[in-house]
Amino acid sequence: MAITSTDPTTGEQLREFSPLTSAAIEEKLACARRAAQGWRSAPLDERTAVLRRAAELLDARRDDYGKLMTREMGKTFGAAKDEAAKCATSLRYYADHAAQFLADAPVAADGERSYVAFQPLGVVLAVMPWNFPFWQVIRFAAPALAAGNVGLLKHASNVPQCALALEQLFADAGAPAGVFQTLLIESGQVEAVIGDDRIAAVTLTGSEGAGSSVAAVAGKHIKKTVLELGGSDPFIVMESADLDAATQTAVTARTINNGQSCIAAKRFIVAQRIVEDFTTRFAERIRALVVGDPMDARTNVGPLATEKIRDDLHSQVTRATKEGASLLVGGTPRAGTGFFYEPTVMRDDTRRTAVFREETFGPLAVITSVRDTSDAIAAANDSRFGLGAAAWTRDEEQIQRFARELEAGSVFVNGMVASDARFPFGGVKKSGYGRELSAFGMHEFVNVKTVRIRGASAARSGSTTE
Ligand code: NAP
Repeated sequence: MAITSTDPTTGEQLREFSPLTSAAIEEKLACARRAAQGWRSAPLDERTAVLRRAAELLDARRDDYGKLMTREMGKTFGAAKDEAAKCATSLRYYADHAAQFLADAPVAADGERSYVAFQPLGVVLAVMPWNFPFWQVIRFAAPALAAGNVGLLKHASNVPQCALALEQLFADAGAPAGVFQTLLIESGQVEAVIGDDRIAAVTLTGSEGAGSSVAAVAGKHIKKTVLELGGSDPFIVMESADLDAATQTAVTARTINNGQSCIAAKRFIVAQRIVEDFTTRFAERIRALVVGDPMDARTNVGPLATEKIRDDLHSQVTRATKEGASLLVGGTPRAGTGFFYEPTVMRDDTRRTAVFREETFGPLAVITSVRDTSDAIAAANDSRFGLGAAAWTRDEEQIQRFARELEAGSVFVNGMVASDARFPFGGVKKSGYGRELSAFGMHEFVNVKTVRIRGASAARSGSTTE
């Protein structure tokens, strides 16, 4: 089957690629293996210089990369340019901090000279999703490459042009051949690649199903994995919240990236006394959103990335309606060309319908009401997922409880959940395991090596260049 690039705004097929043959994959693996030897022993400054140059190129090519993302998966052009800028910032962050994160860490022990060293694992396979087609890749590649690993990217099959652009970006930034390569392969070809002895570890960002199968294969071959999977993030609003700021942020948090973000707020959990007020304000703002051409600066919500994603979303709305949720706004695909869906608001106080229990990947919000703080925490934690959580309140006791008791990889109080290179990012429960970003993300793909030296007074502590 061909790997195709389709414009979700028009439904027009843009490009078609044949998946790599076994022989072509073999060449790429051999090239990665060769590159890994030289890259791990290259001085750290050489590696970080590639990151800095890639950042400069991302800035210089922001418009071109932005247009490519918009055409291939439908995010608004403004958001796509912001994504390119965020990639540049994060590359610079790792270029600036790699020496600190990779420095040997001395350990005081029994008078001997002891330290912990951080050394690269080798070739890391990255299986990535389409929703942030540049950012998802850079947030893996920046720390992994800086640490001395080399990357092989298997991108989602609807963004092959972004995948190739990323390979070119690193080549143009001066990365030696094989340090960062794209594998245009289908998901069925991933298993054999993971099983290859030259692959040291795998990171996957995507759905629960994909994570489970990739981790099972990696487990069989005893290879380290990091899984960044789905989410159904709660957005809690309590009585003391600034309701205007909360509703305004709620709309952005739900509709960011046309509603297709793992950390988009999906379940709105609102205190009984303010739920009607919140719903009226929220619904009003959702109705006012401009849905349309993602290249038009006035557009708030573009198309969904594929026809299937739009149809799956509509099926969730239909099922939830049958299960007893009420439809307050939207609830239909848009007629005409492209994969557009009307921004939708539903109410479900049972917390048992499809839109509360499943991840919804599109502009679809569900509101439920809660009696008190404990009920809000119970509702938020009543999910198989545990990626991010937002809570709006000015009550210090509630803030402390939300921070401690919400089952999530991150908790944002009076704000919306967002990734940031300075902070670890990841989830618990079915949202996956491991962390990306910050020093924690860099340490996922290193050999954390204990070194204890006795009776060799001339020996020096290890090098920090790997
Ligand atoms: P997906 O269908 O799981 O695909 C993700 C990647 O996995 C793609 O490259 C896909 O390749 C590949 N894949 C799928 N099934 C596979 C299998 N059985 N074996 C090997 N590879 C497989 O997810 P998506 O639709 O692209 O992305 C949306 C999902 O990603 C949502 O659940 C979202 O929440 C999650 N996500 C999570 C995070 C996070 O940081 N936690 C961030 C963004 C997105 P093909 O395209 O060729 O099938």
